[in-house]
Amino acid sequence: MQDPQHLSADVLVIGAGGAGMYAALEAARRGASVILADRSLIGRGGATVMAQMTVAVALDDEGADHWEHHYADTLKAGRGLCDPALAQLLCEEGPARIREMDAWGVGWAREAGRIKRAQAPGHDRPRCVYVDFLNTGPAVSKTLRARLNATPEIRRIGDLHITSLALDDGQCVGALGFHVPTGDSISISSKASIIATGGLTRLYQRNSASLNMAGDGYALAHAAGAELVDMEFVQFFPIGHLAPRLIGMDPIMWDPFRYKLGGRLLNGAREEFLHKYGGVDDGKYVATRDLATYAIVKEAAAGRGSPHGGAWLSFEHCSEAELRAAGGPVIDRLAANGIDLRRQAIEVAPIAHYHMGGVKVDARMATRVPGLFAAGEAVGGANGANRLSGNAITEALVFGARAGESAAGFSKKDGTRGKREETRTAEVPGHHTASGFNAAERIEALQATMQQDVGPFRTEAGLTRALERIQDLRRELAAHRPRTGKPFDTTVLDWLDLDTMTRVAEVVARAARARTESRGAHQREDFPAMDPRWERSQVV
Ligand SMILES: Cc1cc2nc3c(=O)[nH]c(=O)nc-3n(C[C@H](O)[C@H](O)[C@H](O)COP(=O)(O)OP(=O)(O)OC[C@H]3O[C@@H](n4cnc5c(N)ncnc54)[C@H](O)[C@@H]3O)c2cc1C
Repeated sequence: MQDPQHLSADVLVIGAGGAGMYAALEAARRGASVILADRSLIGRGGATVMAQMTVAVALDDEGADHWEHHYADTLKAGRGLCDPALAQLLCEEGPARIREMDAWGVGWAREAGRIKRAQAPGHDRPRCVYVDFLNTGPAVSKTLRARLNATPEIRRIGDLHITSLALDDGQCVGALGFHVPTGDSISISSKASIIATGGLTRLYQRNSASLNMAGDGYALAHAAGAELVDMEFVQFFPIGHLAPRLIGMDPIMWDPFRYKLGGRLLNGAREEFLHKYGGVDDGKYVATRDLATYAIVKEAAAGRGSPHGGAWLSFEHCSEAELRAAGGPVIDRLAANGIDLRRQAIEVAPIAHYHMGGVKVDARMATRVPGLFAAGEAVGGANGANRLSGNAITEALVFGARAGESAAGFSKKDGTRGKREETRTAEVPGHHTASGFNAAERIEALQATMQQDVGPFRTEAGLTRALERIQDLRRELAAHRPRTGKPFDTTVLDWLDLDTMTRVAEVVARAARARTESRGAHQREDFPAMDPRWERSQVV
């Protein structure tokens, strides 16, 4: 292993999804030197690049909408738990970010020159802008990457896995990590740091996550002394693809079809069923995600599910022309998978998709640790107990910009880089000892536990069982800490992920066990009603 490398910048941004890239751009725009680090490729890892369609924003052209309407819908969906300051920031500043992305050439779909808007569940009017045919996430990422390329003040470092934050007198002064291709230790000193590492849905067996969505930012922030909020609220996307087998396409791709065509959600007997659970479907896509998830899981549990245990989603009533207009080239990709929507319904079921909880910040995106900020899905509170479609990309862009602004300001006024040029050397765990311990296999065991006992439905007994299993896994992994480093050591990455995932899983399960009610995405079978005494957030 080579000598550890030391780097420094005014602002360190950890994670290069939508939030991290926007944060880096904003910090640079305000005169800061920036390091943008990501454990995978810059702008190509995480959720942003995978986003399918909706970006919720109240564009007020021709009096069509106002941010206060968006804000009211967001609060309603959050079931009383939204942090009002964060929700307001998301809704009020969304239009400026979406127009800035437009000016940067993202390519929002247009009709007669006007940015088009789709109607999405929980919004009181058409409010979701998009780049057509499942291209929203790729277009957002590509646009931000192009801006980064034109901003020399930002040093981009991919394949840099951050493993801890560096503290000096309780202030965050940078981070420690290692370069995956070489195994080398890296330490970075910064006057201000931003956690933009996205969410945690890889904790679950059925998820829409990429490998790097293991909750790293929550573990980093918590270990450094920051607070976490609303950690029990994991959003399950109700109509994740279940069957038939679909290769090379995202499991949540049915969303855009439903926005445009409605579609029919049916049980195993091909009957509409959402009304039995207080929702409406009848060919309209209006039920919020928590309600639809609840209805599908309950209907399947009652023996009325589709053959693979979900629900049918049918577009069989649509004409070929309608399907083609809605799906464009996606229809051909479906055909390559042997799927013809005019002749067959597909099966869907809930899939872990987004995390409402996260690092607790104020409206400047500052944590309680001086010098430490957070942005994007890593932040908790804006969406309360349930997120509306489209709010996550807006959140990433708005919170990213705000965090970049605040971190650059902090680095000018309060930063400590002069005091401490180098953080201490990272302690990088190295390759696997020949102990037979397989961390990748244990990750699968953890995912199964989380799905079974900390999933869409929870009970005291299940949550206690999950916590015991998580403790067992933590004991096992502590006894098998890898020793020396080597290039591209996936066993080390698995061990680190298991370490992070078990820490974060424990926080989620504990918060879920403590909340003895059902609210939004958190459904307790032993406490099925919403309890007004629980109209408050839990802070870890
Ligand atoms: C399949 C899918 C479709 C979606 N569709 C929509 C949609 O249509 N509309 C909508 O509003 N939302 C959608 N969402 C949600 C939305 O995409 C995310 O909430 C949002 O993009 C999060 O952005 P982010 O920048 O906070 O995090 P991400 O984009 O997830 O980026 C986080 C980055 O942090 C990096 N990272 C993590 N840990 C470390 C570490 N230890 N060291 C260094 N780097 C690290 C990761 O590699 C990653 O690049 C979708 C999500 C998924 C998964």
